[in-house]
Amino acid sequence: MRGMASMANRGCGKLGAMNPAMNFCSACGAAVSLHIPAGDSRPRHVCLACGAIHYLNPRLVVGSLPEWDEKILLCRRAIEPAFGKWTLPAGFMENGEAVATAALRETAEEALARIELGAMFSLISVPHIDQVHVIYRARLLDLDFAAGAETLELRLFGEHEIPWDEIAFRTVYRTLRHYFADRRTGRFGFHEEVIGTPDTFQDEADKRLPGTWLLS
Ligand SMILES: [Zn+2]
Repeated sequence: MRGMASMANRGCGKLGAMNPAMNFCSACGAAVSLHIPAGDSRPRHVCLACGAIHYLNPRLVVGSLPEWDEKILLCRRAIEPAFGKWTLPAGFMENGEAVATAALRETAEEALARIELGAMFSLISVPHIDQVHVIYRARLLDLDFAAGAETLELRLFGEHEIPWDEIAFRTVYRTLRHYFADRRTGRFGFHEEVIGTPDTFQDEADKRLPGTWLLS
C-alpha cells in the first residue's frame, strides 16, 4: 500500500479530506482558486488562468485474502504507516487496470504469491480519507511466496493465531472478522460497509487499532 502516509495526512488541512491542499494548476502552473463552479454543487480547485477544473475523486485500494487449507496469508509491513503491523496484500489500483487485475498484481508485488482469485468479499468505504477498499477471496496456488519490497515477512495464520491487536488497518481487521464469521457458518457473503466515525467501531480491539486512517 504505497503512498498511504501522504494520503493519511491529507485530512489535516483546513480544507478537510474532501479538498486536500492544491495551490497550482497541473495543466498550466498558474494559481488555483477553491470555489463552486457554475452548475456544480461542490467546491473545486479552478485554475484562474486556463479555467481547468481539477476534480478530485476517491481512490480504490484493492487486495486479496489468500487461503491455504484452514489458514490465510498475512504480510507484515516494511513501510509506514503501520510499519511492522500485519495486513492483507493490497494497494492502490493503477490507471488502465481492472479491479481484479489490481488484486492479482498487488498480491504478486507484496507477497510474490500466485493466487487464483475468488469472489469479491468486502467493499468498504472510508469517506474521511476518500478511499474505497476492495478485497477478494483467493486461493494460494503454492507455498512459494516471499516478502516483496514493502513486506518484512509473510506468514500463514489459523483463525486462533491472528494477531488481532497488530493488524495494520481497520478495513483489513473488518474483512478478517467477516471472513472467519462467514467460515463458521459455511457461507461466504459479500460485505459492504462504511467505516470512519467512532460509532462504526465494532469492538474494543477495533477501537484500539492504531489511529487507523484517522491520523489527523
Ligand atoms: Zn491552468
